[in-house]
Amino acid sequence: MSIITADNVRKAYDGQPVLDAVSFAVPQGKCVALIGHNGAGKTTLMKLILGLTKPTSGRIEVLGVDPATAGKSFRENLGFLPENVAFHDELTGTDTLAFYARLKRRSPAEVPALLERVGLAFAAARRVKTYSKGMRQRLGLAQALLGTPRLLLLDEPTTGLDPILRHEFFHIIRQLAANGTTVILSSHVLTELEARTDLAAVMRQGRLVAFGDLEHLRREAGLPVKIRVQGDAAAIAQRLNGALAKTLRSGQDGIDIDCAAADKMALVRKLAGLNGACSDIEVRLPSLDDLYLHYSGQPITSEQQAGGSHE
Ligand code: ATP
Repeated sequence: MSIITADNVRKAYDGQPVLDAVSFAVPQGKCVALIGHNGAGKTTLMKLILGLTKPTSGRIEVLGVDPATAGKSFRENLGFLPENVAFHDELTGTDTLAFYARLKRRSPAEVPALLERVGLAFAAARRVKTYSKGMRQRLGLAQALLGTPRLLLLDEPTTGLDPILRHEFFHIIRQLAANGTTVILSSHVLTELEARTDLAAVMRQGRLVAFGDLEHLRREAGLPVKIRVQGDAAAIAQRLNGALAKTLRSGQDGIDIDCAAADKMALVRKLAGLNGACSDIEVRLPSLDDLYLHYSGQPITSEQQAGGSHE
């Protein structure tokens, strides 16, 4: 079942296209990384999903309804952490969440457990003006988690969090996804997304240029697998004799090889069979960072020009 379906969505401001022919479907319980350059259209897409703005053309369906015309109960199933979250400085953490709980028609009795969950119980009675940036960000997350939303949208949620807090943040997100909440989060920190999200949506100049899990993106991109071999570089190069390797770069203590993903196992077997010449092998698949650079630098394909769908 799709929680979000976008079908050929276009959005223009004053005639200027900001989103163009965006189509995709997000299944329930998936965590999606929304990535793209500044101004690529990530926040605009989130606003469309939230129903804060309408598509200029095309159709978007969220939780089975049109978000722009959906009623209060739709909003109660959503959690949203905006990019620049702002709170009333004079309110305490508890008062702030109690205020949002009332807006969402939730019981303020949820508040202490939520503050505990985001690691803010110790500062519950302190005014927000005394909070650090990371504490405000955690308060924002707690606000978004009120009522256990079915869909959670987080715009650059880890900004201002230190590495431990980022780790804890993704732990919470993974728990929510495991319990069926669908999560869309935008971030520019690709390394932290790679192992922690299920799907990646790559935006470029208002177009969705890639959508899918890492394996799908790797297959479509066709980037080489990088293999670093420790040992006698000259002997290894000679005995491989160009077989299976696209590029070989010899260094002092080994050799770097690029090979096609389909040839990886055959090449690793061959290297392992080079008795003595090769002392260690390290295989590196294309990372999300590599894929992002690939997709964000690629020309827009004719299929994307025509509004091809991504599922
Ligand atoms: P960032 O990573 O910098 O947050 P983004 O990918 O979230 O960027 P958006 O905020 O969606 O990008 O903006 C996409 C484009 O739409 C930008 O060129 C922006 O200037 C333009 N834009 C966004 N909102 C409006 C608006 N209300 N009126 C006019 N143009 C807008």
